[in-house]
Amino acid sequence: MNSTYAAPVTYSDHFNDIAQYNVHLNVFEKAWAAWYAYMQNDVLATGIMSFVMHEVVYFGRCLPFMIMDKIPYFRKYKIQGQKMPTLAEQWACAKLVLLSHFTVELPQIWLFHPMAQYFGLATTVPFPPWTKMAWQIALFFVLEDTWHYWFHRLLHTPRLYKMIHKLHHQYSAPFGLAAEYASPIETMILAFGAVGIPIVFCAFTKDLHILTMYLWIIGRLFQAIDAHSGYEFPWSLHHFLPFWAGADHHDVHHEKFLGNYSSSFRWWDAVMDTEAGSVTAQKKREKKTAATKKVE
Ligand SMILES: [Zn+2]
Ligand SMILES: [Zn+2]
Repeated sequence: MNSTYAAPVTYSDHFNDIAQYNVHLNVFEKAWAAWYAYMQNDVLATGIMSFVMHEVVYFGRCLPFMIMDKIPYFRKYKIQGQKMPTLAEQWACAKLVLLSHFTVELPQIWLFHPMAQYFGLATTVPFPPWTKMAWQIALFFVLEDTWHYWFHRLLHTPRLYKMIHKLHHQYSAPFGLAAEYASPIETMILAFGAVGIPIVFCAFTKDLHILTMYLWIIGRLFQAIDAHSGYEFPWSLHHFLPFWAGADHHDVHHEKFLGNYSSSFRWWDAVMDTEAGSVTAQKKREKKTAATKKVE
């Protein structure tokens, strides 16, 4: 990668240079290495890539749901079909989300690289094997869900709800864009589960690649937007993975304001008896009746 001869200037110069001397790398690894070589500044390179990735994934994932809202065929899959978000509502939501991305998330994203690098986060090529990325991402899903469950539940205590979490509950029938519609304090508390946990993991293991981090964040963004989409399909993931939460789980949280506090999985609400929804209410009633009968 060291080229002291006619130094590469443009991005494609760097790409060709790296491709020529690193034939063992795949095209993504070459593109990745060329980006860092072209930028000559890792903090800037990671900062720009992370911010752009976040915006593209966030709004890109919301778009199919916004299109579905306009197509009557999909109405039967909408959980609260009687409450369709208007364009004005979605625009108001997008404006606050964008403001928060630029003022709250951008500085965090910028700080992420130096902090992560300090703890040994790798940005080098070749990328780690996919099996390692898969188990690390699975672990982050489980840990983040736990973090989210307890802090989200805490945010529902009367004082904190009024001060911080009420904003996120402005939409009782959520839509994709509302996933990150929240107060800056809430964004910081809950984002720790997504960003802080991998950093702590990296500090202990010294074995985390930033690509794993990106794939995890993309997975978590998809999860959050799907959960707020308001759409429940016969092909939704929880039909195949019964412990996956999805919109079926989080939509009720927005409708009833109580219960279903976790993000990705159903186990915490099941174990802590905080499940929301009419089916659960029915189950609880049955449990109570059974208990009373036992006493009799
Ligand atoms: Zn809530
Ligand atoms: Zn929500």
